[in-house]
Amino acid sequence: MKHSHSLFLKVTSMREQLQRMRDAALQSIEQADGESSLQDVRVRFLGRKGELTGLMKGLGALSPEERPIVGQLVNTIKDEIESCLESALTSAREQEINRRLQTERIDVTLPGRRLPCGTRHPITLVIEEVCDIFAGLGFSVAEGPEIEHDWYNFEALNFPPEHPARDMQDTFFVDNNLLLRTHTSPVQIRTMLKQKPPVRIIAPGTVYRCDSDATHSPMFHQIEGLMVDKGVTFGDLKGMLTVFTNQLFGQKTGVRLRPSFFPFTEPSAEVDIACVICGGKGCRVCKQSGWLEILGAGMVDPEVYRHVNYDAEEISGFAFGMGIERIAMLKYGINDMRLLFENDVRFLRQF
Ligand SMILES: [Zn+2]
Repeated sequence: MKHSHSLFLKVTSMREQLQRMRDAALQSIEQADGESSLQDVRVRFLGRKGELTGLMKGLGALSPEERPIVGQLVNTIKDEIESCLESALTSAREQEINRRLQTERIDVTLPGRRLPCGTRHPITLVIEEVCDIFAGLGFSVAEGPEIEHDWYNFEALNFPPEHPARDMQDTFFVDNNLLLRTHTSPVQIRTMLKQKPPVRIIAPGTVYRCDSDATHSPMFHQIEGLMVDKGVTFGDLKGMLTVFTNQLFGQKTGVRLRPSFFPFTEPSAEVDIACVICGGKGCRVCKQSGWLEILGAGMVDPEVYRHVNYDAEEISGFAFGMGIERIAMLKYGINDMRLLFENDVRFLRQF
């Protein structure tokens, strides 16, 4: 009897503890805010070190008759807590989805974010415009390597071995035979070696010289032109260049040729246009002369034809070359060449 009474107390106390734990668990579930705090509740009551597991250890103190009864109560409470947790979790997930649908809604009528649009570099613009003008005169674009053999860059263009332009101070040599081309003229040689007359090419490209100050850059751009055919005269050269400068700078740009010297042309000329700033009256840019030098030109020297196996008795032709930077500066009124290479976006956006 005494034994039975104390057993009754044990059973009663366990029932009470289980009920208290159940109430606490359900209250925690109700108060939980969101999925992760519900998971915390699960760990606290149902986890391996949770409160329910702790209470189940007390089952061992019960009699074999009472054990299944209390065990059943434990299972019932466990099921109840689990099903409450599940439904709370389901509704927490739904709420989260609804919240995200509300806050992350995309308004497809809003204008898109535009990527900033780049502009073409003034050097590129000038190259394209010059090539376009000469394409209209029947010229096609030719290109050559920037690392060039001495033979193409100098010897075939009639630069004697002791010519100052071959000096280390002007030329970037790669080795005794290879160099960074100092002008686009080797493209003339490469073209004539591949092709019989008639030839009409325009060759834009990057060239290199050991030179750096306000008006010189160690890397700059040139455009070379070459026309070879039967009966080409100096008059054709002046005519072509007049058409070209008029299209590039405006219809009434005056053109003037002055005698000059280049190893690969004979006769040679410096070509001036009437100053685009002052119209020929004289200003600081043209040093009060009214003229601006823009290119070098001349009739191809017979010595050059000899190197490419052309018959100088049969054909004749002219070549010309100009610095793109100088043309760009004159055309767009740019007063410092370095602006062309600094790539300041505020400067480049103006074109
Ligand atoms: Zn002027």
